[in-house]
Amino acid sequence: MRAGVLHAPHDLRVEDRPEPVPGAADVVIEVTYNGLCGTDATEYSKGPMMVPLEKPHPGSGHVGPTTLGHEFIGTVVDAGADARDWVGKRVASGAGVSCGRCAWCRRGRTNLCASYYTLGLSTHGGLAELVAAPASTLVEIPDGCADLEAALAQPLAVGLHGVDRAEIAPGQRVVLLGAGAIGTFILAGLDGHDGPVAVVDIDPGRLASARALGATETHLIGRDSTLDDLRDLMPDPVDVVIESSGVPGAAARALGLAARGGRVLLVSLVKTPQELVLSDVVLREVDVVTTVAHVCGTDLPKALDLLTRTPLSGALGVTTVPLEDVVAAGLEPLVAGTVGGKILVDPRRG
Ligand SMILES: [Zn+2]
Ligand SMILES: [Zn+2]
Repeated sequence: MRAGVLHAPHDLRVEDRPEPVPGAADVVIEVTYNGLCGTDATEYSKGPMMVPLEKPHPGSGHVGPTTLGHEFIGTVVDAGADARDWVGKRVASGAGVSCGRCAWCRRGRTNLCASYYTLGLSTHGGLAELVAAPASTLVEIPDGCADLEAALAQPLAVGLHGVDRAEIAPGQRVVLLGAGAIGTFILAGLDGHDGPVAVVDIDPGRLASARALGATETHLIGRDSTLDDLRDLMPDPVDVVIESSGVPGAAARALGLAARGGRVLLVSLVKTPQELVLSDVVLREVDVVTTVAHVCGTDLPKALDLLTRTPLSGALGVTTVPLEDVVAAGLEPLVAGTVGGKILVDPRRG
């Protein structure tokens, strides 16, 4: 089978690999679409950050060249002895594998599992004609949900998890800082929220899709916009600030923008140390919460349900590319930041 395998930074090869053999609790999925995201672009251009090219991953045990792809859907074509019921079904995989036994799993926080690992980052994933996945990561795609929509389920599950963590009350004013890939899916996950949602970004194209996805106001800012600039643009008290811009100083800006008694959800992973004046945060009782990944068992079915009711691919802008072109037409444009919308790789197109 053909697969997109990361060997080293800037060295992703589409090559022949042995077909996966399912373990007892696994299935083999013939991949319909595999979405690319910023994480794939980072692994390709600056990695490995998560891909275990040199040291075995503690959760998966995998080491060495790795087939990328953690946002995939397809049809189950083979299964181990304990997963035979899945054969023939159209499925989305959450890609996050949890043990089901540790303290976090028992509390339903499977995304924090002690031995968590991700298909397509910690072991082989769905950027291939076939992928093996534990049946525990699967959700059946509802009949009324088109493939192009279902392919957005994993990133939307991440967005819905973030929205859940933000505990937004009815009518509250929400500001989303940064409408890139993850910000867009958080915005989509705010579906049904009845309060104002303002979106701030440096890119007019992203703001246009934000309006299509339900933002009630959008603000174009410059790269060097300050907290005072944001306050001028949005003078009303902000109940919930969602920080998904990832720019240096992002946390201070988000915390400063939240109203007294407000809440900040930190989404982006800013690697550079940031300076914060915490006394201001304490004196105004601003709550800070964080979010990572998603809970397969709850967020993924919610995402598929939402995508069945409210298709997103149109508002988001989806491009499909053949597997053989994944570097030139997928990863390189993502790294260069010239992509608007979502790229889905279709391995059936060769
Ligand atoms: Zn992703
Ligand atoms: Zn666990």
